[in-house]
Amino acid sequence: MGYALKETEYRYRAWTKDGIWQMGKLTTNKNITIHEGSNVFHYGQGLFEGLKAYKTKSGKIQLFRPDMNFIRINEGLDRIVAPRIPEELFFDAIEKVVEANKDDIPEYGQGQSLYIRPFVIGQGMNLGVKPSEEYLFSVFCAPVGTYFKGGLSALNFVTTDYDRAAANGTGQVKLAGNYGASLYPRQIAKDAGYAGVIYLDPATHTKIDEVGAANFFGVTHDNVVVTPKSSSILPSITRKSILYLAEHVLGLKTEERECFIDNISEFKEAGACGTAAIITPIGSITHKGKKHQFGEGEVGTIVKKLYDLLLDIYYGDIEAPEGWIREIK
Ligand SMILES: *Cc1c(COP(=O)(O)O)cnc(C)c1O
Repeated sequence: MGYALKETEYRYRAWTKDGIWQMGKLTTNKNITIHEGSNVFHYGQGLFEGLKAYKTKSGKIQLFRPDMNFIRINEGLDRIVAPRIPEELFFDAIEKVVEANKDDIPEYGQGQSLYIRPFVIGQGMNLGVKPSEEYLFSVFCAPVGTYFKGGLSALNFVTTDYDRAAANGTGQVKLAGNYGASLYPRQIAKDAGYAGVIYLDPATHTKIDEVGAANFFGVTHDNVVVTPKSSSILPSITRKSILYLAEHVLGLKTEERECFIDNISEFKEAGACGTAAIITPIGSITHKGKKHQFGEGEVGTIVKKLYDLLLDIYYGDIEAPEGWIREIK
């Protein structure tokens, strides 16, 4: 995430009662007071989501594929043995938070948006390692600037020997602990002057998994858009959308398959994609001290086309594929 421009006034809170989600409401209280024995503090029973609201040229407010975030948060809740959130509650929270803070949604044309952060935590006294009996679902938001000040440029990444998640672990869900595990490798990469880390598959360390908190994609010399297939990457909604746009709008072939780091030169362009990053063009990847540069290290042509398409859809400048946009009235 680039930077929060300011804090907003309203957030939404809902709790479970006897294991059943109750509808929640807005509050202006930024603080949450919970028991010191809460699972989220000790055993990491917590996960989050991330999506954005955009203002269009005509002043409409729209969300990008929030139904996918709804599906994903519930897959995450299954994985941490927490109760699924009903659709009505999820959208009540998102819509109320966006409406209540609508004066803080950046105007069209500045490359900014309102970042929305839903999260669920297990709370209540719980000393044993077992699921919580009570849960909080909350949503807050903050206007955010363009991820890259000064426009789109290709950044340099480095592989790491550390893993963010195990092969059959929790990599597929936005579990808080995955990000705790990623802080140290990220710091090492930053200290060495890189924009971020490329994680390899945890079982063999021979294939690209993903890029910090974004998914990886590459474009081959014959213009096939490729993204890694792996059990430990977070299924990015942006990636799914990019593959769709590559195929249906740009008319390119797409593949989801293994991307061997030793065969990185099969790609002439590469990018990292996610709600926060949108698309970050990857200029180079350094692996075991050897730097592989994509093209001349500039922003790739297809990467740029996909970036422009995504932004046009986010801001309502072109019509989105069926069902991608949810307007907030
Ligand atoms: C959230 C996230 C992404 C991006 O997913 P989007 O749905 O596109 O925002 C990619 N990788 C990780 C590890 C993430 O947490």
